[in-house]
Amino acid sequence: MTRAYVGLGANLGNAARSLETALAALARLPHTVLAARSSLYASAPVDAAGEDFVNAVAALDTTLTAPALLRHLQAIEQAHGRERPYRNAARTLDLDILLYGSGVSDDPHLTLPHPRMSGRAFVIVPLLEIAPHLALPDGTSVLSLLAGVADQRIARLPLGQSP
Ligand code: ATP
Ligand code: CA
Ligand code: CA
Repeated sequence: MTRAYVGLGANLGNAARSLETALAALARLPHTVLAARSSLYASAPVDAAGEDFVNAVAALDTTLTAPALLRHLQAIEQAHGRERPYRNAARTLDLDILLYGSGVSDDPHLTLPHPRMSGRAFVIVPLLEIAPHLALPDGTSVLSLLAGVADQRIARLPLGQSP
């Protein structure tokens, strides 16, 4: 069993509902247990177009390999009608593997840890909600990354509220 953390984001359509549907799909993945999920958060777009994003982080315990998990995540994205007109385009659903155990990979098709997670409040804040004592494979505590993203706007959404 490997503990993996998945970042969820959406900023088109009913983003909060997309994330709840995606979380339900994660809970149904084969060989996988949804161990924890964060609240939903609203965040300002970073290098991206459009409305505020809705973000969340999920903890999965899985025996899927990291590439197999990524293929499942991409299938869930496709089921949500995701199109990729260009990088960082507004999207109905984005699912990234943030961490896969203490796995490290520099493969551009699957880089671990996710190479941009440390600088993103919309990753760090929900991740700390469900894993306050987590450390990156290099030993950096996730809590120590909070100061570096403190200038980025993010707000926890009240339960059941869509932005
Ligand atoms: P960012 O990676 O900055 O969050 P993005 O999520 O918008 O950007 P995508 O267009 O969704 O980027 O993905 C581009 C490619 O990134 C995917 O085809 C995938 O193979 C690759 N990739 C590399 N590492 C990961 C990872 N840890 N999780 C998900 N995709 C990854
Ligand atoms: Ca992403
Ligand atoms: Ca992605």
